[in-house]
Amino acid sequence: MSCEHLVCANCSGPVVEGRCPTCRAARAEVHRHGPSVPPALVLAGLVALLFVALLLQRLYG
Ligand SMILES: [Zn+2]
Repeated sequence: MSCEHLVCANCSGPVVEGRCPTCRAARAEVHRHGPSVPPALVLAGLVALLFVALLLQRLYG
């Protein structure tokens, strides 16, 4: 998701331009979450996958 097409409710300007603190906060919020999942969730997913892989290896290896 991108903030390019968002319009600020405070200054009615494009959020991407960061004209007011609300714009900048909204822009930072969007960019912090980014186009994908948060790094912590990625890490948790990797750990879960590793756990499953080890479990399968124990069961069938
Ligand atoms: Zn604004």
